[in-house]
Amino acid sequence: MSLIKKLAKAFIGKSQEATDDELEKHRPPQPKSDSSKNQPRRKGPKPQQEGNRGTRNKRSQPTRKGGKRNQQRDAYKNRPRKYAPGQEITVKKPTPVDPVGFKTFGLREEILTAVGESGYAQPTPIQKATIGEILKGKHLLGTAQTGTGKTAAFALPSLHRLASGENKKPTLRCLVLTPTRELALQVAESYKSYGKYLKIKTTVVFGGVGIEPQKRALTNGVDILVATPGRLIDLQDQGYVDVSQLEIFILDEADKMLDMGFLPDVGRIIKRLPATKQSIMFSATMPQQIESLSQGFLENPAKVSVAPVSSTSEQVEQALYFVTRGDKRKLLVHIFEDETTNKVLIFTRTKTLANRISDFLNRNNISAAAIHGNKSQSARQTALQNFKSGHTRALVASDLAA
Ligand code: AMP
Repeated sequence: MSLIKKLAKAFIGKSQEATDDELEKHRPPQPKSDSSKNQPRRKGPKPQQEGNRGTRNKRSQPTRKGGKRNQQRDAYKNRPRKYAPGQEITVKKPTPVDPVGFKTFGLREEILTAVGESGYAQPTPIQKATIGEILKGKHLLGTAQTGTGKTAAFALPSLHRLASGENKKPTLRCLVLTPTRELALQVAESYKSYGKYLKIKTTVVFGGVGIEPQKRALTNGVDILVATPGRLIDLQDQGYVDVSQLEIFILDEADKMLDMGFLPDVGRIIKRLPATKQSIMFSATMPQQIESLSQGFLENPAKVSVAPVSSTSEQVEQALYFVTRGDKRKLLVHIFEDETTNKVLIFTRTKTLANRISDFLNRNNISAAAIHGNKSQSARQTALQNFKSGHTRALVASDLAA
């Protein structure tokens, strides 16, 4: 039983375990969560350390001033650290490398330079299978999930093809449709990064934020538009998106579009596109509805598949801990005791739980932020940005935000 639960029991005077609501009522005042400041570390006692691991261990009881627990706490506070408290953890830019494995594709020099600067020396399996096909102008159906390098797999060859016919004034020639705002931002960032030495303009549009800046960006002209379905239709209906010159259409994470109920919108968007264009679709899984959708707009596509359905990315190390419900939080704190444990994603079943765990971590001097559907778009973006830059060590997401 945790210290808090024990304290609560003493306050409440019940023999059975205190419920969470009771715990909230009787919880001693906690320092306010400081996640908004996004300090990676703060000084302060770290509750719930070693003494609490043996759940029925008497030593885990609170003791008077100067007791063993205080000594343990001081020893913990003064432990050797890799990072000083309060020190910002910075994430290093990738070291430029020779993109040797990408040279055989015949990609433009400007793109190869950017690839090298991204730190990629060798193409991932999906990139090996895909880049050549897209460069040939073929339609493509890819089964690959996030983490396999699928974004570069379609972004690099599409940039090459667009760069070959650069226009004086940007004209919408490539449309990428993604199910979520976060993915849209990520994909647009990738296009900007790989295409930074080309005269190609990329813009991203999605819902939940003001439409006016997006209208302005479109009026000024774009070559590549990354969009979520709802906002794209809005902008099209208002006359801000002219797809008549479109050369490449990419549907990313098609199965997620299905999960999120976007297929009707996707269908409407596809109907409005010109008939002659290169179409590319990626999906992590291939349920029947997605298969039928692909047959509707892909003509004799090259089919590539790099990971069997439901397998996990090779780049993720996996471990399984068997713990009781009451020990889960202690395990989390324990995992974070390793100062090198950064960029930790935690998934929870509900939004409330995501908030609670994020608050719990911050109370334990582990900088964390929650991200879920109840957060505003700007709060979500700030949370992602701080996580990416290393300002926060943990990002706690609800299942759906996953
Ligand atoms: P994605 O599957 O597109 O979301 O990419 C997953 C991650 O792999 C991203 O952080 C990319 O920057 C990275 N990545 C993509 N291609 C390569 C590559 N050839 N070598 C190393 N990392 C890569």
